[in-house]
Formats: sequence, C-alpha cells, structure tokens
Amino acid sequence: MKIPLSSPDITKKEISAVCQVLSTPTLSLGPYLEKIEKKVADFVGVKYAVGVSSGTAGLHLSVKAVGIKEGDEVITTPFSFIASSNCILYERAKPIFVDIDEETLNIDISKIEEKITKKTKAILCVHTFGLPDYMDKIMNLVKKYNLKVIEDACEAIGAEFKGKKVGSFGDVGVFAFYPNKQITTGEGGMIATNNKNIYLLGRSLRNQGREENNKWLHHKRLGYNYRLSEIQSAIGYIQMKRIKEILTKRERVANYYNERLKDIKGVKIPYSQPELKRSWFVYVIILDESFTKKDREKIVEELKKKNIHCSSYFPPIHLQPFYKELFGYKRGDFLIAEKISNLTIALPFYNNLSEHQIDYICKKLSSIINYYHRKWI
Ligand SMILES: *Cc1c(COP(=O)(O)O)cnc(C)c1O
Repeated sequence: MKIPLSSPDITKKEISAVCQVLSTPTLSLGPYLEKIEKKVADFVGVKYAVGVSSGTAGLHLSVKAVGIKEGDEVITTPFSFIASSNCILYERAKPIFVDIDEETLNIDISKIEEKITKKTKAILCVHTFGLPDYMDKIMNLVKKYNLKVIEDACEAIGAEFKGKKVGSFGDVGVFAFYPNKQITTGEGGMIATNNKNIYLLGRSLRNQGREENNKWLHHKRLGYNYRLSEIQSAIGYIQMKRIKEILTKRERVANYYNERLKDIKGVKIPYSQPELKRSWFVYVIILDESFTKKDREKIVEELKKKNIHCSSYFPPIHLQPFYKELFGYKRGDFLIAEKISNLTIALPFYNNLSEHQIDYICKKLSSIINYYHRKWI
C-alpha cells in the first residue's frame, strides 16, 4: 500500500460539474469563472477576485499590477517555493531576501527594516506552509515606508491572522490551486484585492491586454493568456463550496499527527500560536540539530522503502543554481533558512489520510529516528 505525499479530494460533485460544462459551448470565460471568483472573494472577505491559470501567473500579474518595475527592490523570504521570488524577476525587479524566523518559518519581520532602501517598492510576504505572517507588523512597516504588499497566500487559503483571512490584508493576495494545495482546479490560481484598479488591470492582463466592453481584437496593453478555463473553474467552484469541510478534514489529520508525534524525541511538530490560525497545506516536521542533511535524506529514503512518500520542503531559493549565478549568493547568506531547509520532512498529508495510515507512518518514523539516537549513544 503506497502512501503518497499528497492526493486531491475530488468527489462526484466536481466530476458532474465538469461534465455539465463539457455539454455547453462555453469552455472559457463563462459562468463558472464568475461563480468561483465571487465564491473566493466572499470567502476571503475582499471586494474582487480574478481567476488565473496558476498561482505563479497570479503572482506575476500582482507584481505588475502594483507597479513594480525594472530596478525596483522587493523584500521577500528565501524559504519558499521558487515562484514567490521568480515573479519579481519576471519584471526585472530584484528580490531582496530577509532570513526567516526559526519558529514560524516566515520572514523575520524584525530584520526587514535594515533591508529597506530608496529602491524598495514592496514586501512580498509568504504565509509559509499555511501559517499567516504577523500582518499587523507588516502593515505598520509598509505604512511607515509607503510600500506595497503582495501576500503570497498560495499555501494558505482560509488561514487567519487575528480572525481576518489572509489575502485580504495587502494590496493584493494570491491563491493557488495546484493538486497538492488545499483546494485544486488541476492548475489554477486566484488574485484577491479590494483595489478596483488592480482588479481591472488583473482582468485585462490575464486576457491579452483586452479591456472590458471593448472589441475582442482590441488590445490596450501587453497582456498574457493567464485565463482559468470553465472546466477548471467548475472544479474549483465545487471545491470552494466544500472548503469548510476540506479545511476541517485537513485539520483533523494534522491534529492526529500532532498527538502521535509530539513526544518523539528529536522531532519538532509544526508551530502553533493562537493569533495565527493555520490553514493546513502540508505537515512538516523539523528534526533537531543533532541530525544532518544527510541523515534527513536517509530518513526520507528509509520511509520511501516502507512505501511512505515524503519530501523536503524547501531548499532555500538563494541557493538555487541560477540565483547563485545571477546574484552571487552562497551558503551562509541566510543561516536560519539554510539550517531549517536541511532538517524538514514533509510527511504524507491529504484529506482522506486515515488514522490507521497515520499510525503506520508515525510508527515507522519513530523507529527510524530511534535507530539514529541509538547509533549516537
Ligand atoms: C504553490 C505555490 C505557488 C505557485 O503555485 P502554482 O499554482 O504551482 O504556480 C507560489 N508560491 C508558493 C509559496 C507556493 O507554495
């Protein structure tokens, strides 16, 4: 019995919505796109939402829509999926990394101010593994320095800071619907904003620079094809209708893991704090510092032999080959991000993971970890 790292939760309802779309002539720019946009906007608590073809596309359009240009600097985290930094490079702006907080694994807000220069245009914050940033502190900083805020909420739909949903704090927030995310459309994403200009610009840019109520072959600006199809929108609309159920299922799996793992020596379970309501994206444990990166890789390999598929999110962005080449980054530049990324293990995590499977995973994990402890003694 193979236990995968992640698995989407698709029911008959999604399947029948897709079949219904396929029986109509409208496979793009139709009613389901409007329905999922309204559903996400209402859920997040913003005025507007724009469906796009991926989270990365949403981030790219957000960078453009807040006016980031060549030479501008954008402050962000090196401990993330690479898209949160690449979207800055697409516009020839420069990502300025700030190391992370060892507990939350989000950007260390106390270290942001020293990186702000005359060229700083925005903060692109990532709600890593679904844990919200301290948005009050970020909003204070952007007010003080007159910066824009892009929230990369691609891992965090439904997460809340002090009772307010992520994606509703910044100028713009972005969600992603890849199959391993909380909800999926296969490929897809969504921009959320309260700013009408960003909304209209987002709609135009995703659709080849067209304008509302203008001719189909009239292109006001350089745009892209970043549209979310009706087929994708239909899947996502049903997933959004089920979002409370989906997030509750994920929380149940996480709580079960927490119970099983909290007392295992050498393993740190995901951080929790009452003000920060996590939306469970992945379940990532952190090994203690007596382990090395090699040990971690061995443990992941051992688990795989037992049919338990894990991953090691994330290698730091600044150490990716083309970042090193472009900016001259090296090991040692962001110590906490580097240390953490050597010690993480993402365990299998999805809605329908059974308690029986979690027991099996935790038993195997703890016996492998015990083996290491014995070896050291
Ligand atoms: C998944 C993810 C994205 C982008 O998602 P895609 O839909 O795959 O383009 C961006 N940022 C973060 C932090 C992510 O985890």
